[in-house]
Amino acid sequence: MFELISKVHDETRQGEAIAPLVEDMATYYRRFYIESYGCQMNFSDSEIVASILNKEGFGATRDVEEADLIFLNTCSIREKAEQTVRKRLTEFRKLKKLRPGLLIGVLGCMAERLKAKFLEEEKLVDIVVGPDAYRALPKLIVEVDGGQKGINVLLSREETYADISPVRLNSNGITAFVSIMRGCNNMCSFCVVPFTRGRERSRDAESIINECKDLFEAGYKEVTLLGQNVDSYYGLPLAPSNRGGTANTQNQLKQETFNNNKDAQTSQSLSAGEASPIGGGLEGAVTFAMLLEMVALISPELRVRFSTSHPKDITDEVLHTMAKYDNICNYIHLPLQSGSTRVLQLMNRSYTREWYMAKVDRIKEIIPDCGISSDVIAGFCTETEEDHQDTMKMMEYAQYDMSYMFFYSERPGTLAERRYKDDVSLEVKKRRLQEIVEVQNKLSLKSNQNDLGKEFKVLIEATSKRSDFDWMGRNSQNKVIVFPKGIQNHKPGDYVQVKVKDCTQATLLGEIV
Ligand code: SAM
Ligand code: SF4
Repeated sequence: MFELISKVHDETRQGEAIAPLVEDMATYYRRFYIESYGCQMNFSDSEIVASILNKEGFGATRDVEEADLIFLNTCSIREKAEQTVRKRLTEFRKLKKLRPGLLIGVLGCMAERLKAKFLEEEKLVDIVVGPDAYRALPKLIVEVDGGQKGINVLLSREETYADISPVRLNSNGITAFVSIMRGCNNMCSFCVVPFTRGRERSRDAESIINECKDLFEAGYKEVTLLGQNVDSYYGLPLAPSNRGGTANTQNQLKQETFNNNKDAQTSQSLSAGEASPIGGGLEGAVTFAMLLEMVALISPELRVRFSTSHPKDITDEVLHTMAKYDNICNYIHLPLQSGSTRVLQLMNRSYTREWYMAKVDRIKEIIPDCGISSDVIAGFCTETEEDHQDTMKMMEYAQYDMSYMFFYSERPGTLAERRYKDDVSLEVKKRRLQEIVEVQNKLSLKSNQNDLGKEFKVLIEATSKRSDFDWMGRNSQNKVIVFPKGIQNHKPGDYVQVKVKDCTQATLLGEIV
């Protein structure tokens, strides 16, 4: 029987505990344990939380048994994600009964969605903190110690945590995620993110460049610029006098004004196919294409990736910038969601089927060897068999290398929940998802087979999980390549030329040339 995959962003990392290396635990007076769920943004946020707590004298541990504080950084995107967190909380509650001094905190999107209800419903949760209130965490812990309940779920129009350098110690030391913006203004009707993460705001360009430079100097070779909708990035320019310095308060204040101005400009939803009204921009603003270029110019040895692109916002300017620099990877995550114009309209995605096809054509025209991946939702409200067929045809048209595929999960408070009936049965949703997964599996295999005999520049990330004798790395198109270490003294962070000799649906297998 075919296995049904409903992937969340990086399934293998769900529930991962992050812990920065602590040289001497005696320097910390309490230990915290933090587990992360959901998208890459949440994993990135956990690194910010760890950094805030570290500064206040809390040391991280990966052993829940020795923790004084347990945090769950949560995701609300689908019901299943919330169920997973609730299950985990039940386990932690047992631990708390045995150790009454233990504090349990819920962070992130679920905290934001359920607010105080969380404290009432999940009696043994002590702290509830939304994605924009992590700076308040140390103070809330003190309040909880004093017998109060700790809650802060205020959303902000300004917070970007620009000045906090995240701890990175669970990473491979080669690839890192850099958050460039927070929140989302798009209001896709199925999506809870605008409600849990608030309005879109961009981090100032200077702090982003500085973080990327620091990473490169620390030996990192790849940065992924992260946001719910990176192409609508809109930041302050780098002031010549500030080059090389750190972001200052004045910069941050200016950035707030920028964000608010941009908010005002983009508050009207775009109609399908319309160009972005901010294309020309407010004077002096840094667009995403400009930011990409600035990061690419740090060093040709530093690879640049980004995620996620909303199809309506990715411009020719971005595509030409990608084509211009070898170190900007030829890979775009371009979520389709549905291949039916009628469903796309109900989803409030701001593009039509034809518009999306034209965007795929344009990408392939400007960057012929560009890898493209997608997110697809099966069984959205009113979806017919014909709509479903349109989605699968569109997948074939775009020839995705990879997709994250989900069946629709109604989320409380979203536009879809308020406006439309969740009228496709679970059985049908699952069957359609299975068909979508089958199409993607076929496309992934075909895409990998097309690479047989080709040579790629590969960044070595780590020893392969399957064999100590093999390296694992990625090519520009984000495909995983496994190849024998051989007799050369390569190490993670090195670039090597690899010729593809064989493949599976998920992996290319090659040899160093
Ligand atoms: N901002 C990104 C974008 O627009 O592409 C992605 C945001 S979301 C964290 C990742 C994916 O989750 C979405 O692209 C969508 O496919 C899926 N998703 C969001 N809400 C969903 C829902 N209610 N049911 C099923 N899948 C959902
Ligand atoms: Fe959700 Fe749409 Fe924003 Fe992505 S662009 S986070 S799917 S509202």
